[in-house]
Amino acid sequence: MTLKNPTTNDVANKTVLIRVDYNVPLKQGETGLEVAEPKRIEDSLPIIKFLQENDCKIILMSHLGRPKGERVEKLSLKPVAEYLRNKLELPVKFISETVGETVKIAATELQPREILLLENLRFQPAETKNDEVFAQQLATLADIYINEAFSASHRTHTSIVGVAKLLPAFAGFHLQKEVENLQRLMDRPEHPFVMIIGGAKISDKVEAVKNLHQIADIVLIGGGVANNFLKAEGIETHKSCLEDEAAGKEAVDYVAIAQKLIKDNQTERMLKDGYIPLPKILAPIDVVAAKDKASADTEIIDLTHDMADTPNDKDLRYFDIGPRTIRLFTDLILQAKTIFWNGPLGVFEQEQFASGTREIARAVAKSGAETILGGGDTISAIHQFGFEDRYDYVSSAGGAALEFLAGKELPGLVAVQK
Ligand code: AMP
Repeated sequence: MTLKNPTTNDVANKTVLIRVDYNVPLKQGETGLEVAEPKRIEDSLPIIKFLQENDCKIILMSHLGRPKGERVEKLSLKPVAEYLRNKLELPVKFISETVGETVKIAATELQPREILLLENLRFQPAETKNDEVFAQQLATLADIYINEAFSASHRTHTSIVGVAKLLPAFAGFHLQKEVENLQRLMDRPEHPFVMIIGGAKISDKVEAVKNLHQIADIVLIGGGVANNFLKAEGIETHKSCLEDEAAGKEAVDYVAIAQKLIKDNQTERMLKDGYIPLPKILAPIDVVAAKDKASADTEIIDLTHDMADTPNDKDLRYFDIGPRTIRLFTDLILQAKTIFWNGPLGVFEQEQFASGTREIARAVAKSGAETILGGGDTISAIHQFGFEDRYDYVSSAGGAALEFLAGKELPGLVAVQK
């Protein structure tokens, strides 16, 4: 895939509309909401600097959270504008509208190198509908369009697809970097290639596992996703989260999908110093369980030995991988040359279920493997542990990266392809 990157000739002295992804976690500060995790904002700095050097007028647009087409004050992008202005010292004006007369005036009043941040795109119901009128309103603000929001590029939304059709459209530098890193992972990873998948929602991840496991040497499964694999292996999971039952969405049988993946990959692999035979897809061999997430009353269940003694259907949920699984996964991770990791291995937000994710994060950092990790919760987890500077490449994208790795065509990339 060849993306169209903007050159000096394309941008010099122009007004540029950039779709960024400033969907960042916020926290309550002394004077109001503040940015809690700025990575996505910082990802957009190279393109902003490049445009400033070329005397462009810059208009930034983004979504934040899921306001569902209504103005929701706590999802305003104002704290992001303050971060850009105060922490990054950029000349940023914020406007509490997305389109309309005041936006038009603010755009025409912009001076070269100045930046205008529009209010949350998703305050407009038209944003998620790839709406022609809304696209037109946004497009009239600028001369060219840049997509710098790889993490939203799997969405057929107005600011991702519609506007790109109406203006000369380019791929941002960070978007390009995300694509190159993920493409390299698929095309020429160094082996052993270890894939680590966790989190709660197997539905988001299963297609990427189906596609990428063919390239990976071993797939380590943790988090809620693992429960589907455990059940598929005939292991009791009690009341643990299983997405198909818990979410009550369309009845996809993820346990059956997991069963097929396990069956198709029964060939034994050896990674460690010669021959330790292992199946390609590895679910936990022990877990940390409790009645509910808030409970401090936890127990470690050895899934290889203790199951016969465990009464069926106990009031127990598996919330983290156990110590033996941590050791096994760590051993394998330390031998990897390439690692892709998406999704926490347990409910890391609760200290009693954080060790799985923490120890795996530590092992990945220590491995020396070329690492790509991503997804909002994985980033929050490594931030919580203070490990964020210890990896080669932290991708801001969760869903988009997983769809890309599943081999799907992302509408936002099609729009900025050569
Ligand atoms: P996802 O968006 O699918 O990556 O899910 C992230 C969420 O999964 C985090 O908020 C974790 O607390 C949660 N999670 C991780 N492991 C488990 C588990 N074993 N059971 C329930 N939720 C989990």
